Amino acid sequence: MLKDEDRIFQNLYNDNGSDVASSKTRGDWTKTKEIIEKGRDWIINEIKTSQLRGRGGAGFPTGLKWSFAPKELSARPHYLVINGDESEPGTCKDRDILRFEPHKLIEGCLIAAYAVQAHVCYIYIRGEYFVDGEKLQVAIDEAYEKNLIGKNASGSGWDLDIYIHYGAGAYICGEETALLESIEGKKGQPRLKPPFPALIGLYGCPTIINNVETIAVVPTILRRGGKWFASLGKEKNTGTKIFCISGNVNNPCNVEEEMSVSLKELIEVHAGGVIGGWHNLQAVIPGGSSMPLIPQSTCETLTMDFDSLVAEKSGLGTAGIVVINKDQDIIKCMARIARFYKHESCGQCTPCREGSGWMWRMLERMAKGDASRDEVDMLEDVTTQIAGHTICAFGEGSSWPVQGLLRHFKKEIENRNDLNPSIKKIKDIPYLVDQHLLDKKNV
Ligand code: SF4
Repeated sequence: MLKDEDRIFQNLYNDNGSDVASSKTRGDWTKTKEIIEKGRDWIINEIKTSQLRGRGGAGFPTGLKWSFAPKELSARPHYLVINGDESEPGTCKDRDILRFEPHKLIEGCLIAAYAVQAHVCYIYIRGEYFVDGEKLQVAIDEAYEKNLIGKNASGSGWDLDIYIHYGAGAYICGEETALLESIEGKKGQPRLKPPFPALIGLYGCPTIINNVETIAVVPTILRRGGKWFASLGKEKNTGTKIFCISGNVNNPCNVEEEMSVSLKELIEVHAGGVIGGWHNLQAVIPGGSSMPLIPQSTCETLTMDFDSLVAEKSGLGTAGIVVINKDQDIIKCMARIARFYKHESCGQCTPCREGSGWMWRMLERMAKGDASRDEVDMLEDVTTQIAGHTICAFGEGSSWPVQGLLRHFKKEIENRNDLNPSIKKIKDIPYLVDQHLLDKKNV
């Protein structure tokens, strides 16, 4: 279990206040000037040494990302953008940083902005977090008042302005290029990549985009050293992480733990255990709703880090752990998630726009026992036609939960639908008829 002295977020439960004075007693804004005076290369190298990986879902190495910012400043300004959209179901960690540890984030913004040569930083917050955004604004105002940011921020010689930008509630604006479109006042739809935002981002200028938690841990890493951070967790999966545990547990919570902590410990020790006991556990979604579920048998020994979860054909994602016990209808749960993705598709790519609806409708029928056996294979086929064939990773995000269900609960689907006497034949369902698939199946 993580030692208290290694905990970065000392006010995760708001026991001590989020104002600047309280934050300073926890070590925030200590030696910020000295850190900046060590220079860009030192900062980026130290972050590389820490092996910090992005906390927003993709897990991209942060130091490497910062090194993509052009070394020489041209006529185009550089921007730092903080992604606080946090729309992934099951995830609520950035919210607690915004409202309870805002100065960690603001100090991190200053250091990161200096490292990537940005004088302007936008913090993009989902519209529903309005109250939390207001709290962050109070902290930003305080930081300006104390000259921690603004002109000659913290006496470092670097100028930094920070602006909050609120989204309007679209899940897809958490995708980094859709987020940039949204800040620019356009429809929040992802851009084709390349070009990548590090070279052509906000207003066509070099832009580095990082998650709230990623930036909030930066000052502590630089104060304590990259090697300290790297000593926690395991190789390439280092440091601490805020896990959000929800669903059928006795005590849903956010908790900061060492990377590679065991899933069972998170659920049993921190979240008060599965409702009905560990034997009543059916499955766990380990990293927000877009990550494939893990069946109970694997949960016993699973450790929570990027690589361990990939080995189980899932992902750490946002570390939003949703516990599903045996009282739940797992097919219905996944149909509900599929409906969410159908609703949130931005509609640019046909496989995503149409396929997400297909998946939802088929899962609804499967949950009711109204689907034919052929549809199980067809559902699998549809997921593979979406994933990898779209502009952004939403295609994978909507298909993976369905693939996880099929991987681990196919028998349940088949049993339920075989038992139904009014099984429909595939040809009887007009909007599912796709000649390509019918040919393939010789129907
Ligand atoms: Fe939009 Fe979906 Fe295409 Fe992403 S994959 S750009 S969400 S239609």
